[in-house]
Amino acid sequence: MTKLSNEVLVCTKCRLSETRRNAVPGEGSVDAKVMFVGEAPGEQEDIQGRPFVGAAGKLLTELLASIGLRREDVYITNIAKCRPPNNRPPRKDEVGSCKPYLKRQFTLIAPRVICPMGNSAIHSLIDSDKSVTDLHGIPFEVEDVTYFPMYHPAAALYTFQLRKVLEEDFKKLRALLDSLPA
Ligand code: URA
Repeated sequence: MTKLSNEVLVCTKCRLSETRRNAVPGEGSVDAKVMFVGEAPGEQEDIQGRPFVGAAGKLLTELLASIGLRREDVYITNIAKCRPPNNRPPRKDEVGSCKPYLKRQFTLIAPRVICPMGNSAIHSLIDSDKSVTDLHGIPFEVEDVTYFPMYHPAAALYTFQLRKVLEEDFKKLRALLDSLPA
């Protein structure tokens, strides 16, 4: 994983490398059973070179703690490893250039469950026209890996109802993890 992360740190495959401060490969356990995949680093992540360390990251850390998980127990990354200027969504070609890194992370970690968070991550990983509103909290299997789509924690920062939905989905995730055969 170190080799892969080092490649990401010096990557120049797309235009985001021209404006980033730091690439953000991802962090957590290489033995993680569950991986969380967001959209792209924001300002704090760009400054610190770590995923989900801003306001949305604080909520993600709290949601993990609510089901007995620490950040070190899971793996956290994004579909795009560099911050898009002014926090615009990453473009299709940018996500496309970055995808091989994510695929290699999936192979190295071999998680049992992958949680794409928000529409960008969901549509980059799942072949569906449906939105997070329809897909969240419903697990489905693709070749021995269970995908468990969720709302992006940033969406829940200012909408109390969505926060409740995320809390419920994390409880469902706990039950899903507990049900996995050893
Ligand atoms: N939002 C994301 O999608 N990813 C981060 O790392 C931070 C905020």
